[in-house]
Amino acid sequence: MSKKHNFSAGPCILPQEVFEKSAAAILDFNGIGLSILEISHRSKDFVAVMDEARAIVKRLMNLGDEYEVLYLGGGASLQFAMVPYNLMKVGGKAAYLDTGTWAAGAIKEAKKVGNVDIVGSSKEENYSFIPKDYKVGAEYDYFHCTSNNTIYGTQMKTFPETDTLMVCDMSSDIFSRQLDFSKFDLIYAGAQKNMGPAGVTLVVIKKEILEKTGRENIPSYFDYAQHISKESMLNTPPVFPVYASLLTLQHLENNGGIAAAEARNEAKAQLLYDEIDSNPLFETFCVKEDRSLMNISFKLLDDTKKEEFDAAWKAASINGLNGHRSLGGYRASIYNAMPIESVQVLVDVMRSIK
Ligand SMILES: *Cc1c(COP(=O)(O)O)cnc(C)c1O
Repeated sequence: MSKKHNFSAGPCILPQEVFEKSAAAILDFNGIGLSILEISHRSKDFVAVMDEARAIVKRLMNLGDEYEVLYLGGGASLQFAMVPYNLMKVGGKAAYLDTGTWAAGAIKEAKKVGNVDIVGSSKEENYSFIPKDYKVGAEYDYFHCTSNNTIYGTQMKTFPETDTLMVCDMSSDIFSRQLDFSKFDLIYAGAQKNMGPAGVTLVVIKKEILEKTGRENIPSYFDYAQHISKESMLNTPPVFPVYASLLTLQHLENNGGIAAAEARNEAKAQLLYDEIDSNPLFETFCVKEDRSLMNISFKLLDDTKKEEFDAAWKAASINGLNGHRSLGGYRASIYNAMPIESVQVLVDVMRSIK
């Protein structure tokens, strides 16, 4: 079967080279006569994978020794809870920006740990824009935001100046654009949106922020400091997802790094947004200025064309174009590994509907 054009929001497309190298490592890893699935995480070959997987993140993000990199289980969803457990002081409070379903999920978990102020929200407008008119003062233990809203197709183009720690869920746009990553104190991302398969979550953390919160008896797995002291091997790490993530990041580094990926992502997004804007049948869900380069959520303005459009994109070997169940419509996720040729196939299908 020939490869489909995969617009799935996650787990999602990865570079073909990553699939091939991952498949080879399952049969014989590094030529050692063993599968990556059967070796000890303490073996020299895997420790080298973990060391390099941690190091390459800092190289790509241009971060120094004040940062630590962890590969954890539990998805981005576990980070919704780990962040407040580690950063919210007993009796303190945190500021959250409510820009979508995932941001709301982070807020829900943080409220179980302590006090949360929602400093901005676009919920009443169905998350169709990013709130910008808010201030975050020093009274907060940290500020939490979501850089890209995977479901609604909005993306933060700028980040606020705050007087407190900056925490960001970058699950769906990590490594897709150049940012000054040193502005952030903690970044996390479930791998399965742009940097690897499901099963591992990247956490990048500035060591000095882990001062005492006054919270006693945090479960060990919840404690960033313990993961750091064990070099991301507090328990058995997700060996294979870490390896596949490393392959993805090596592919990125060998192909011009984040700057080159950003240029490709801008070209892909422009191709599709130009079609949506010029084609009277389609419209995005969100305002223009906050449109995402990664997840393009759009709808048909004429419902009677739905059957024809759905049949046409399926016939064109396109996969994963249906919108999230909470929003409906369509969503084209055009992560780093998506070739512009696949976006062109979608654009051609959209043009063929009259
Ligand atoms: C998918 C997603 C999550 C949830 O990730 P899990 O790894 O499934 O827990 C959180 N935040 C954002 C922005 C996402 O896109």
